[in-house]
Amino acid sequence: MESKTSDNLQDLQYFGEYGGVNPSISDSSTYTFLSAKKMFDTFEGNTEGCYLYTRHSSPSNLYLGEALAAMEGTEAANVTASGMGAITAVIMQLCNTDDHVVSSRTIYGGTYAFMKNFLKKFNIGTSFVDITNLEVVEKAITPKTKMIYCEAVSNPLLEIADIKALSQLAKKHGIPLVVDNTFSPLTITPARLGADIVIHSLTKFINGSSDCVAGVICGTKEFCLSLKDVHSGAGMLLGSTLDSLRAASILKNMRTLHIRVKKHSENTQYLAENFEKDGLRVVYPGLKSHKDHEKLKSFMNKEFGYGGLMTIDMGSLEKANALMEMMQERKLGYLAVSLGFYKTLFSAPGTSTSSEIPLEEQKEMGLSSGLVRFSIGLDNDIHRTYRVMRECMVALDILKSDTTMV
Ligand SMILES: *Cc1c(COP(=O)(O)O)cnc(C)c1O
Repeated sequence: MESKTSDNLQDLQYFGEYGGVNPSISDSSTYTFLSAKKMFDTFEGNTEGCYLYTRHSSPSNLYLGEALAAMEGTEAANVTASGMGAITAVIMQLCNTDDHVVSSRTIYGGTYAFMKNFLKKFNIGTSFVDITNLEVVEKAITPKTKMIYCEAVSNPLLEIADIKALSQLAKKHGIPLVVDNTFSPLTITPARLGADIVIHSLTKFINGSSDCVAGVICGTKEFCLSLKDVHSGAGMLLGSTLDSLRAASILKNMRTLHIRVKKHSENTQYLAENFEKDGLRVVYPGLKSHKDHEKLKSFMNKEFGYGGLMTIDMGSLEKANALMEMMQERKLGYLAVSLGFYKTLFSAPGTSTSSEIPLEEQKEMGLSSGLVRFSIGLDNDIHRTYRVMRECMVALDILKSDTTMV
């Protein structure tokens, strides 16, 4: 049961056009039909097994979608040109003018901005709630609500959504639960816990090379086909199509995802435990002090660990900034947004990825200005990394030099 996710992925086999172990990359925007009738049928929606035009689908994109559906345990998956391309297509597909969304308030900045500012054009309102408080979530649901939206592990505060309970709530009200699982591939399998639609920004851990943006929508066959509908599908009509060459390269990177996730988790757990022992305020779901630690433990796929993200409060924005600059100079990683790279990436969410959220609201949700978010890399010698990180912290008076080091 526990390793089913990665088994599904492992068991996928591709036989390329010429028997290659890597499927041929589709290098065409348009496809021929042997009969005019077949082309007509395809436009009428009977598109299975037929390629029409690459904005609709392409062999390479279908292969990648198949792998992602296997990983998330959903019937189907559509890949998109970015994570935002996936998120916006799902919302536009499910909501009409005057509808309503109930969303977690701790979500990716771009998603927050889309809901708060862009959906206004269609008079679609969003109630941003504390997703860990089920009573508040249920109270926010109105007859116009078309979905509950959350991140499995929230950005940047790393709160864990109780997907099982949220899914029961969603079912009770006859609406889908949409979960962005970008922070926790393999560790959490939202569809197995009851989520109806699972989204990823493939840009992060799944691709893992920080060389492209891409996204995916995993769901039922019916929903994925509806997104591709030539007359009314948000995927087809908004046109956020992933390039086939990129789809092929992401598929190849996915083969090492299980190994990378384990190493990211192992390294992050090590640093989180040690910096907590040093007396810093560390937020990491793998720490017993994390308020959702037990909850996550109860439903995660344990072999993959608690993920590669942690935050540390450096006390002030000045100290946070100085530390990040020093860490970059000391070659510990990059002062950059994003996550899932082989080197550590760090940023101060309050002034970067979550800057769309007004200061007042940041404060209210516990996003302090000295917070640094780390996406820990695949460092072979994490103790050495810890020592150098610690030296930087001592130099900047974030840590006292007389505290003991492991
Ligand atoms: C990066 C990210 C997105 C957006 O994905 P893009 O590929 O940059 O469009 C959405 N959700 C989360 C949690 C992210 O980290």
